[in-house]
Amino acid sequence: MRKNNMSLAVLDQSEKMDALETKSDVSIIGLGFVGLTTAAAFAKLGMKVIGLDVDSDKVSKISKRVAPFHEPQLEELLLDSEKNFSVSSKIELAGRSRIIFLTVGTPSRSDGSMETRFLIDAARNVGSAIKSSTDYPLVVVKSTVVPGTLLKVVIPEIEDASGMTYGTDFGACSNPEFLREGSAVYDTLNPDRLIIGGTKKDSAILLSFYKRLFGKKMPKTILTSPSNAELVKYSNNAFLAMKISFINQIARICESLPNADVQIVAEGIGLDKRIGRSFLSAGLGFGGSCFPKDVKALQHFSKSLGYDAPIVEATMKVNHDQPLRAVQIAEEKLNGLEGKKVAILGLAFKPDTDDMREAVSVKIIEELLQKGAIVSAHDPKALKTASLVLDDKVQLVSDKKDCLRGSDCALLVTEWDEYKTMKPEFFRDLMRSPVLIDGRRLYDPTQFAKVLDYSAIGLDRGASKTTC
Ligand code: NAD
Repeated sequence: MRKNNMSLAVLDQSEKMDALETKSDVSIIGLGFVGLTTAAAFAKLGMKVIGLDVDSDKVSKISKRVAPFHEPQLEELLLDSEKNFSVSSKIELAGRSRIIFLTVGTPSRSDGSMETRFLIDAARNVGSAIKSSTDYPLVVVKSTVVPGTLLKVVIPEIEDASGMTYGTDFGACSNPEFLREGSAVYDTLNPDRLIIGGTKKDSAILLSFYKRLFGKKMPKTILTSPSNAELVKYSNNAFLAMKISFINQIARICESLPNADVQIVAEGIGLDKRIGRSFLSAGLGFGGSCFPKDVKALQHFSKSLGYDAPIVEATMKVNHDQPLRAVQIAEEKLNGLEGKKVAILGLAFKPDTDDMREAVSVKIIEELLQKGAIVSAHDPKALKTASLVLDDKVQLVSDKKDCLRGSDCALLVTEWDEYKTMKPEFFRDLMRSPVLIDGRRLYDPTQFAKVLDYSAIGLDRGASKTTC
């Protein structure tokens, strides 16, 4: 195994498989947000880990301890885990591990159903890799998958590619992941629970692995069937998404109700211990790589069982309309958008990430452009990823002053910390007409309405009338 002090061990194409001196405890297949964080965290906690991905550019970056995406503390974790963590694009190396985690993507198809392509490829590659293994390898699906996927898709593909028999020659578990982008490192090192779906024998192997990993910090664990484990993940995300859509619906009511403010309403209901305050922040709706695709997949899956799941459907409907609310307000404030300069603050789907998957900013910008606005946009971390998905008519700027200068309206889309400290005078002094639409309830309405024409999601439109 080649190794130097400055980089993770990379097992490149020219190396022979038997160059690996020792077996790794685990292989992780798919080094995206989940796989890379999991691999590095397991390695930091003492396991020998090999991370595998078909994307050789990604493998090459990781080998130099460069995170291929922005995630707080990930590069430090890559440094900390260096001695236990090697990477390669040779998926067959998975055959050297007793436990193989699948963390490949499961994006949406155009009809909302779950795309199984990456999972099937990975399962087949694992099947080929474990063909000659005699020590009962365990394949663990961490990717988010609809109920039945482990038993009906993953296991048959492995059996077909390996010629082995599930339960006799190899085992398989479902073990969904709950980390949040932006705090993925913390969440992976401190999970609030483990859900393990599999046979008694397979679940016991995975449980003993986690006990070794977490020791006294072992989180609460539920051992159950694969379908239950798979459904826990979808239900979890659909429930959180539903809370967001619920409060956004209350926000719409507040906007037409004298002296109403959704923030106070959320505070009030959040004090009920049965409800709690989290995920009750009204805004422009949810985006990202998980909620929209998982809610859609649950909706599609439920339909395939003959049930329409109306709450899940309503969650998506409210979320579809919510980002456009900001455009409606801008249109009203500016008497139309043709030729008006609109400054967008925040592009990433949430703060502390550069992930633009299903970011509401894209939908808002498309609508603004369609209505003839001239759009400039700023984001502290996501300008590069945004440039790959946004129309080149959008001016992407790295200085928020340049974004705001000469604009007719500013629209706060992502609640980055650096926007929280901006004063109303900062906007007023740079903008041509000081119209601010606070899509994430970042600012104090009383303070801001004294200086600007300030509107906010979930705030009585009468109460937010400008006093400047
Ligand atoms: P991602 O798209 O960031 O990463 C997936 C990785 O898999 C990519 O690097 C890709 O190159 C690699 N890959 C694809 N096919 C492969 C193959 N056949 N063999 C090896 N590598 C392959 O995805 P992600 O955001 O890390 O999500 C992974 C899974 O975890 C999804 O099912 C997702 O729903 C779930 N999940 C994601 C999050 C999150 O916050 N991102 C949280 C919990 C669960």
